[in-house]
Amino acid sequence: MTPGASDICHRTERRIGYFTALAAVFVALLSAVLGPNPAAAAGPEVKDLRIGIRENETRFVIDLNQKVEPRIFGLPDPYRIVIDLPEVDFTLPAERLGAQGGLVERLRYGLFRPGTSRLVLDLRSAAKVAKTFVLPPDGAKPWRLVIDIVPTDRAGFIAAMRPTPPVVGRTATPSPPLRTDPVRRAVPVVAIDPGHGGVDPGAIGKSGVYEKDIVLAFAKEIKRQLEAGGRVKAVLTRNRDIFLPLRDRVQAARRANADLFLSLHVNSHKIASIHGFSAYTLSDKASDAEADALAAKENKADVIGGLNLSTYSDDVQNILIDFAQAKTNELSVRFARDIMVREVSQIARMVKRPWRSAGFAVLKAPDVPSVLIEMGYVTNRQEERQLRDSKYRRALSGAIARSIVQYLETNDSAAVR
Ligand SMILES: [Zn+2]
Repeated sequence: MTPGASDICHRTERRIGYFTALAAVFVALLSAVLGPNPAAAAGPEVKDLRIGIRENETRFVIDLNQKVEPRIFGLPDPYRIVIDLPEVDFTLPAERLGAQGGLVERLRYGLFRPGTSRLVLDLRSAAKVAKTFVLPPDGAKPWRLVIDIVPTDRAGFIAAMRPTPPVVGRTATPSPPLRTDPVRRAVPVVAIDPGHGGVDPGAIGKSGVYEKDIVLAFAKEIKRQLEAGGRVKAVLTRNRDIFLPLRDRVQAARRANADLFLSLHVNSHKIASIHGFSAYTLSDKASDAEADALAAKENKADVIGGLNLSTYSDDVQNILIDFAQAKTNELSVRFARDIMVREVSQIARMVKRPWRSAGFAVLKAPDVPSVLIEMGYVTNRQEERQLRDSKYRRALSGAIARSIVQYLETNDSAAVR
């Protein structure tokens, strides 16, 4: 038995033998945990995570610097187990994101909303929590939250799911009413939406860079450049590394009375040579299969974040939305196809047919012209380097900011003054 295996099991639990297969993997991890502890952080900290496998059971262990109260529940379609903790710092090796083993196909974690950090176990098949317990520090071992997962069938999964706890800040915010008249303000407002965040990293680059970090840096730079001229106000849907449901992004734009909504993304592809910038508008019929697949991928953000979509489907005002959306969509297309693509092509490489359309959930504000851009491919070496480079970021953000101002200058309902 190695020190790695002993860390998985408490000494009162005589199950150490089950986890020997795991031992070798964790020897290295354990040495990190045992290393000298720098000045203790004020708040709770997740110091490491491990997945242990035995015949029929998968054990998930969270190392913490203090005791925390978890809230654990299941979500179906696809099967996930969600572990909510109070807001914690994740001070652990980056490669834990995406860890897998046993019943766990993929592990994700991050800030879910202020005050709550979330870990999501994407499951290979239906499984339920057989046991959860907390182990106090023991010698060099820190606080440990241990969760044992066993296989079940669909009925068993549903039966074991606890009702999803109420989500703060969502139930109490009704949709703002649809606008009937253009809103006149001193300066027009643009909502800039950095995609993904928190528990949802988005695309992952060759170097390990995350889409969520790239697009946040771009959003801040575009806002800076837009507001430098004093003629446009920019609001960000998120300004830090936090998960945000797609519908909340749309609502943020509507609450801000935005004249334009721009969602920022970067793309990935298994073929490394694929590259280029593209701009998307909303359509119920996708312009091509590729755009359709991309929309499906981006729309999964809520699932990845561990959101229960079944609580979420009752979109009211459908008839009004259809009516308002046709007019809104004309404006979105004008911005994406006629202005943005032309302006950005002076800075960035473009995909063939750089304007496309598909059913992106984040573009569904009925009364705010909305465009989603994929600023390049993090799976392409050259573009990944560019997207991380501050000089390129300033240049591309400049082109995007210019196209926003051009659009607003030529739009009656939101003229730049
Ligand atoms: Zn994305």
